[in-house]
Amino acid sequence: MKRIGVLTSGGDAPGMNAAIRAVVRTGAAKGIEVIGVRRGYAGMMDGEFETLGPRSVANTVQRGGTILLTARCKAFYTPEGRAIGASKLKEAGIEGLVVIGGDGSFHGAHYLELEHDIKSVGVPGTIDNDLYGTDYTIGYDTAVNTALSAIDRIRDTAASHERLFFIEVMGRHAGFIALDVGIAGGAEEILIPERPESLEQVIEIVRESAKKGKTSSIIIVAEGYEGGGLKVMDTVSKATGLDARVSILGHVQRGGSPTASDRVLASRLGNAAVIALLDGKSDVMVGIHAGEVVHVPLHETWEKKKDVSLEMRELAKTLAM
Ligand code: ADP
Repeated sequence: MKRIGVLTSGGDAPGMNAAIRAVVRTGAAKGIEVIGVRRGYAGMMDGEFETLGPRSVANTVQRGGTILLTARCKAFYTPEGRAIGASKLKEAGIEGLVVIGGDGSFHGAHYLELEHDIKSVGVPGTIDNDLYGTDYTIGYDTAVNTALSAIDRIRDTAASHERLFFIEVMGRHAGFIALDVGIAGGAEEILIPERPESLEQVIEIVRESAKKGKTSSIIIVAEGYEGGGLKVMDTVSKATGLDARVSILGHVQRGGSPTASDRVLASRLGNAAVIALLDGKSDVMVGIHAGEVVHVPLHETWEKKKDVSLEMRELAKTLAM
């Protein structure tokens, strides 16, 4: 392999730049040319390619977002769209591809290989951490820390006004962020999509907590739980008569400079992706498991489900007295 491409696709995540940098510099160290594909699969179909040398990625390791830009591309769901993308790659002499994104982006890479024999390796980049096959995804640690610093601030005002605060964090299908920030932020309750806790139970918990003399409380709501923070706040405050507020953290959780953990993870996985391609591996994601780099077939990342830890859920309950 003499020339490989790298792209970021789907939702952006802090640390994607550190991964791009690792791909480019590992490529340079191994004597292969790295081509940046801008705007994900949309840019691939338009042939938006640029050669990236070691200096092109200088001063990017600390930057959030993605210098290659990201996009969602409807045409790529169709064989016709993918055929256009594959022909652009072949015209440019790109023999292998590193795809940094989530399981949607990995689907695209999987089909490119199946239909057009483009070798590709996925790098998990998504703040939600809900990807099977890796203990952590790039961007997750930063998102958790960003949400946590907001929660710490909200707790100050919640305590001063003796208020009940519902804080919505990201996680449409998964409660990883909610569970971690809930435990780290000392939340009274953590509501996640995977947890079969009804709104009636939540109302009961809030009532009990008020009876115990708690004058202020923080309840973390993953956006995918029962319609999100606003709805939960509305229902609970009507049922209990308590003075409640909601704060929806939203997109602030996506941005910002990546944490040290995310930079190191992205550097390791970007490096591992290039080595995997050069070793002849393909149609796999590089992930991290028990501190070591692992290779997981791409299809497993969407066919299998990563569950939030039962132990963490129990811990959150025990500590929220
Ligand atoms: P993520 O990679 O973060 O999961 P998306 O699910 O939005 O984000 O996927 C990003 C892009 O990957 C889509 O816009 C599309 O171009 C491509 N993609 C997603 N799912 C598929 C699929 N089933 N088949 C082909 N391409 C897909």
